Amino acid sequence: MERQIRYQREADLEWAHEFTKHPNCERLLSCIQCGTCSGTCPLSIYMDLTPRQVMALVREGFREDVLRSKTIWLCASCYSCSVECPQNIRITDIMYRLKREAIQSNLYPKRFPVPVLAQEFCELVRRRGRNSEFWVVLRMALRSNPLVLLNMARTGWDLWRTGRLSLRMERIQRVNELQYLPTASKEVD
Ligand code: SF4
Ligand code: SF4
Repeated sequence: MERQIRYQREADLEWAHEFTKHPNCERLLSCIQCGTCSGTCPLSIYMDLTPRQVMALVREGFREDVLRSKTIWLCASCYSCSVECPQNIRITDIMYRLKREAIQSNLYPKRFPVPVLAQEFCELVRRRGRNSEFWVVLRMALRSNPLVLLNMARTGWDLWRTGRLSLRMERIQRVNELQYLPTASKEVD
């Protein structure tokens, strides 16, 4: 594993301070670095930073390291870590907050499909009120790694041939009424 040395002068303590003011992130400062979250997480073996490391880096203000990590996108929101944490830190909610900030700051790992998929899904639902699997996957592949389309072509053909994949882009009626939702969620933020 590649290790990088970070210096305190690279940290953004103001960001860390602001981060812990967000709802459900307040208890992050009470992390005792016990590692229970990493030991419980079923996906930590695939992550570039363990959940314990994410908590430490956020607390110390290493914003870019966290936002550019794959960990926040690999988190499956199973809540095991939050249930087991002896300090009642809402680790899963912190991961959600980090994902949102990564997209807003355009700092997610490049050519990594999960954040692109999240963006395309939200954009399609915002514009049409419904998700259309074919178009979401196609746009994700074109933006992250178009070569994967070659591997997916056979499966896609079989699904389409047997009527299990639609190329139609669906749309709900009165889609304009959905537009107030992002505004409302920002106000709650
Ligand atoms: S389980 Fe809780 S206290 Fe322990 S390292 Fe993880 S976040 Fe910190
Ligand atoms: S919620 Fe995410 S970080 Fe926590 S245990 Fe599950 S996958 Fe791991």
